[in-house]
Amino acid sequence: MEIILAREYGFCFGVRRAISLAEEALKSGKHVASLGPIIHNPLEVSRLESIGLRVIEDISELREGESILIRSHGVPLEIIQELKDRGIDIIDATCPLVARAQRMVDFLTSEGYRVIIAGEQGHPEVKGLVSYGKNNASVVSTLEEIPELSREKIGIVGQTTFSLERFREIVGEVVSKSWEVRIFNTLCDASRKRQLAVEELVDKTDAIIVIGGRNSANTRRLVDIALSKGATVYHIESWDEVLPEWFIGKDKIGITAGASTPDWVIDKVLEKIRELCYQ
Ligand code: SF4
Repeated sequence: MEIILAREYGFCFGVRRAISLAEEALKSGKHVASLGPIIHNPLEVSRLESIGLRVIEDISELREGESILIRSHGVPLEIIQELKDRGIDIIDATCPLVARAQRMVDFLTSEGYRVIIAGEQGHPEVKGLVSYGKNNASVVSTLEEIPELSREKIGIVGQTTFSLERFREIVGEVVSKSWEVRIFNTLCDASRKRQLAVEELVDKTDAIIVIGGRNSANTRRLVDIALSKGATVYHIESWDEVLPEWFIGKDKIGITAGASTPDWVIDKVLEKIRELCYQ
């Protein structure tokens, strides 16, 4: 049986960078708390906890002398300000692409544009972006949510992981209703590349194993895409879940993983498959 890996899978560079920053800080002897789980992968979160990373939900839980790690989604400006005022050491792992989107909202706001953020209301990254809009930014995820627009200057940015198709639709609708629109394409193509790669994999294989946290939206999206293309799909978080009967009568098995799945978990899954099939 042949194992075929997707053309793009696993950690994106923003997540890889966040994990490295956490590991470096812990190695240097710092006590570090991350504000929220650093990624949506319970195995990787447990590994980091085992080397000292503490997960907190609110900055009020910080202990004396602890540094805080800001995860790749970024946080609202008020939180950064409060941490600075309290003199807390900040390890800023905000993904550079998210930081760019924050700068774009800040720039548009300072230039007098009313900002529309194409994204999901309540998503941690979006909460951060909104804070740069100084009470003049609206979050829109569907055409119906676009507010009434008059002759204002409108600026548009997107949540980095927002769908390109919906971003295009929202931009088109806003342009048709406004006199002046400035658009910054702040979308990241890491998720999209993984989604296109899983589509390709469906055509080349008899079944697909998707590795990643059940709480990871981008991993679930890979599962949904493969299912919608008619593939036999197994979604697993850990190598322990791989079963021998999945490979009976199969010539080609495809493997992919969400952007929050670490390499070491993928390696262990591959090892387990080889053990079951080639022994
Ligand atoms: S998905 Fe893109 S924007 Fe999000 S952390 Fe990864 S590289 Fe950064």
